[in-house]
Amino acid sequence: MLLLDTRLLIVTILFFGVIFTDYLRNKKLPLLSNKIFSLMLYLTAVNLIFNVLKIYSIVHVDQVTPPVSRFCNQVFYITLILVVVALYWYVEILGNQQKRAKGKKILKRMLPFGLSLILILTGSLDFYADDNQIYASGSMATAFELTVLFYALLIIRSTYKLKDTIAKENRLAILGGMVLLIASSVVQFFNLGLLLSSVAVTLMILFIYLSFENPKEYVDEATGSFNKRAFHLMLDEKKEADKPLILISVVIDDLNRIQAMVGHDNTNHVLEVIGAKMNGIFLTINPFLEKCMEPHVKISRRQRRKIADHGFLSSVYHTRSNVMTYLTEMPLCYIEDQLQALSEAIREPITYDGFTLAVKAHIDVIFTEVYRNQESCDEIYDMMNYMATHNETSQETNLHFLDEQVMARKQRYSTIETILREAICDDGFTIVYQPIFHADTNRFLSAEALVRLTDTQTVGFISPEEFIPIAEKKGMIMELGEIVFEKVCAFARAQNLPERGIKYIEVNLSGIQCVHPDLPNQLTAIMNKYDIAPGFINLEITETALVESGEMLQENMKRLRSMGCSFSMDDFGTGYSNLSRMAEVVYDLVKLDKSLIWPCFCEDNHKANAILESVIRMLSQLNVNIVAEGVETAEMADYLNNHGVTYLQGYYYSKPIGETDYLTFLNEADGLARKTISGFDHSISSATGLAP
Ligand code: C2E
Ligand code: CA
Ligand code: CA
Repeated sequence: MLLLDTRLLIVTILFFGVIFTDYLRNKKLPLLSNKIFSLMLYLTAVNLIFNVLKIYSIVHVDQVTPPVSRFCNQVFYITLILVVVALYWYVEILGNQQKRAKGKKILKRMLPFGLSLILILTGSLDFYADDNQIYASGSMATAFELTVLFYALLIIRSTYKLKDTIAKENRLAILGGMVLLIASSVVQFFNLGLLLSSVAVTLMILFIYLSFENPKEYVDEATGSFNKRAFHLMLDEKKEADKPLILISVVIDDLNRIQAMVGHDNTNHVLEVIGAKMNGIFLTINPFLEKCMEPHVKISRRQRRKIADHGFLSSVYHTRSNVMTYLTEMPLCYIEDQLQALSEAIREPITYDGFTLAVKAHIDVIFTEVYRNQESCDEIYDMMNYMATHNETSQETNLHFLDEQVMARKQRYSTIETILREAICDDGFTIVYQPIFHADTNRFLSAEALVRLTDTQTVGFISPEEFIPIAEKKGMIMELGEIVFEKVCAFARAQNLPERGIKYIEVNLSGIQCVHPDLPNQLTAIMNKYDIAPGFINLEITETALVESGEMLQENMKRLRSMGCSFSMDDFGTGYSNLSRMAEVVYDLVKLDKSLIWPCFCEDNHKANAILESVIRMLSQLNVNIVAEGVETAEMADYLNNHGVTYLQGYYYSKPIGETDYLTFLNEADGLARKTISGFDHSISSATGLAP
């Protein structure tokens, strides 16, 4: 018949064995708390081994000499106490966001352990086994019990004290384990039998492992690298420890194209291959590092260990859908060669499973040194995102380093974001109108509404070409679009534009607005509010948005069109014209972009003319009206009109002008009879003082 202790122990060992093997097999995040947890697992493994040896030595007193038996007991006690002490540090580090304690604090916390170590090494121990249990007593056993109890209470106190920073399930696991441990200690203290503490500690560790220290929590299944959460934790820890880091991100610039080509799963595979390339390149220690490792080179033991640990300290993380980031503590001069190698490696096509895929990717390099004075890691993460979305690979280079210029650009970007937020709350936008000349009637029957920011103090004039993309990226475009639309409708109603003969006003829609399910309701409500007939509104959608967006856009267009709104395809000639798609989407106007028109008026314009003329012919056959943008001279106006473009917009007629100027412009234009385009009287636009 086995002892009760032995039976319990066997179950625990089996259980622990399974989890420990699983743990060893998985990739581990080199986070301080994780390292301590690893240490706890190893100590527990040693403790369990010595628990077996100890029981053996007690049961077979005749075969084991007393010093050996005493040694087994001592190791058993010490490792168990160490597990509890490590757990205490673990809780402290978890609660203090991976911050390490220093000097005196460490000494204070380790003093009880030191005392009990002396008692365990020198104290007395009596033990015997009866049929069912093992009994132990003496100063060694008492010291052990008291120390465990002491640290258990400290752990409970810390868990309570740091309750805001330790997740609830983590706290419950730790507290549950401590209650078990204290209960078993109390039982043992009075009973002197039933050595439960080892079982209790092991169970608690297993529980922690299962609930939140499972390494899989930090691994991104899709790519096999560490995930974003792991990245944040790691960054926090290094930042707390005030360590300069380098973040090297490989950013895939054309993820959407790759996804469309090879599907979602294979895209993950592409990221995985990139991660492997990064790991492969950075794990080869360069000649300089190898030199550092030679024994005669004088570097501190800490530095030497750091270099040797290079592989351990550096890991690849999947930080954004299209970004793999490598984090290292190595100074830049140590890894320059590898960066060059990586830059070349990512230019090469990726081959796997019979696929060969050219991937457009660039590398962003960020030094955390720059953020010394910043409070949190958010700033770093923000910069990563900024660089990932604003840099691209080019012929010259695919390597981008964080420098003063990037910082300044990012600063401007953030400032504009703030200005936009304020403008949305404080009515900081105005609308200007650019009259559109209808050559068939010789009148300015329509206009394009263009938004302006009134704040020109903070960073000077900001073009909508700069702030619209920011509003899109920062989730403000729906509100901004609503403001623009409301201002246009309010102005049209207040000045009775339809009664003045204006047929319609063109309002720009951003690609994001177009596919927003609320768009039709939002626009309808405003038109109703100002009693504007939907036929008075022409919505401009860029060619790129038309090509890229799917069913939602069609649905929105259908609803708005059924009410009477018309549509323009804006910036025609700048996107990747998908001609078959063009035939599917119904629109009333096509606006030729300046880039199609201007080259016709340069030297060597043969090809440009041929292109423009055939585009005009094709569009005429599709029965859509054509508007030419960027008409700057009489020559352009004549040429376009002669080729059948009847609607003309550009500085030749008028720059975009404010409400009052626009009304003046209309009044004066109305009074003038113009028979030909070149006969257009410039005195009108000069009357507004705004014409070129
Ligand atoms: P867009 O829709 O292509 O607007 C035409 C742009 O060309 C305007 O620039 C206009 O001022 C400029 N332009 C017009 N005629 C000429 C010319 O003869 N020569 C030259 N060089 N330029 C001319 P703006 O107002 O700076 O707007 C830039 C872009 O910002 C617009 O391009 C449009 O994409 C966007 N945008 C402007 N207002 C809004 C808006 O309310 N909502 C949205 N979503 N986008 C807007
Ligand atoms: Ca436009
Ligand atoms: Ca345009």
